[in-house]
Amino acid sequence: MHPDYLAFDRRHIWHPYTSMIHPLPSYPVISAAGCELTLSDGRRLVDGMSSWWAAIHGYNHPVINQAMNDQISHMSHVMFGGITHYPAVELCQRLVALVPSGLECVFLADSGSVAIEVAMKMALQYWQASGKPRRKFLALRQGYHGDTFGAMSVCDPDNSMHRLYNNYLPTHLFVDSPQRRFGETWHAGDDLNLSTTLATHHASLTAVILEPIVQGAGGMHFYHPHYLRLVRELCDQYGLLLIADEIATGFGRTGEWFACDHAGISPDIICVGKALTGGTMTLSATLTRRHVAETISNSDAGCFMHGPTFMGNPLACAAANASISLLEDESWRPRVAAIAAQLRAGLLPLLDHPQVRDVRVLGAIGVVETKLPIAVSTLQSWFVDQGVWIRPFGSYIYLMPPYIINVEALQRLLYAIAGALDYQNHFII
Ligand code: PMP
Repeated sequence: MHPDYLAFDRRHIWHPYTSMIHPLPSYPVISAAGCELTLSDGRRLVDGMSSWWAAIHGYNHPVINQAMNDQISHMSHVMFGGITHYPAVELCQRLVALVPSGLECVFLADSGSVAIEVAMKMALQYWQASGKPRRKFLALRQGYHGDTFGAMSVCDPDNSMHRLYNNYLPTHLFVDSPQRRFGETWHAGDDLNLSTTLATHHASLTAVILEPIVQGAGGMHFYHPHYLRLVRELCDQYGLLLIADEIATGFGRTGEWFACDHAGISPDIICVGKALTGGTMTLSATLTRRHVAETISNSDAGCFMHGPTFMGNPLACAAANASISLLEDESWRPRVAAIAAQLRAGLLPLLDHPQVRDVRVLGAIGVVETKLPIAVSTLQSWFVDQGVWIRPFGSYIYLMPPYIINVEALQRLLYAIAGALDYQNHFII
């Protein structure tokens, strides 16, 4: 590699949500194993991010690596049009069995955002095929569903990229994000905004789309499961589809297989991604009910109009099968519960810190919300100096470590967060 590869990176390569003029620093990682990332200068960082919810088993897992090596020796990829293969069929069988009940028709796509596009297209085609074309979705404020156009259009309109693409995005309907938190007592009337909006607008709507329980990039809020049950009831009452975006929450992160399981509900369409392959390959899936799939297929089009080049990529499916096989004995449950307990013990005392607005923990997710916005680049570099990889955003410092993290490593992450709060220059005043 060119010795100045970092200079090349800064000059030529876009990183997520960064400027080409003043890019945030990028740290060169040369390998990752277990819960550690190794930098090119030899420093090792404890990973608190699971590569954005994905690497649930840690990095370089031998079982997933073996499955991928085996698959490579057969084929890495083959088109899915007119062809099928065992890794995809095995994965879809597993998914149908795992996700909340009744979701039995699977569409495999490339990324979380594409899974959302697919879900939205399914809802639109469903209504078209029913002879009652509708085009509006109802979404939650502080929701986030991805960066492609359809997905952006259902992200919070004030707290996302909406304004930048204002004239291009279809307009949808939004209700306030659920106010009643996970763990609080539900009060009658907590859902008023949702009930009245649906009562007024249901006839123009295709579907309600939401992140169940955890609103992630829109603010890391955890809301009451009863809200989900009410959404389910109202969707049934008005004949609307319910789309659950479980891209971040799926596969155990919140303490249940899927966040919908906290409420015991099943949506009409579910999207999964991120941890699907244990964080090794990009792959997502959108599952729906048979009657939705058959209504779509009975339309003039006669089919569902989507078919990515890398649909059902066998290598990604093999990784996903291995990742799910590691979850199947449910040994993640006590591990996630232990992480939750340690997160609570380490983070809740920070509520007394003058910089802290709130602390929240659910499953293997811990969030410290600060009063002031965070100086990301300064704090990030301080974290690296402490030997940890934690990437804050906005006014949130949060952890979602791999489920395999041990007590000492998690403690290092927690100490680093507690220490970080004492430096004024970590915040924008
Ligand atoms: N939905 C949610 C809830 C997400 O957290 C994300 C990713 N941050 C997406 C959708 C989009 O997934 P991807 O980045 O794989 O396109």
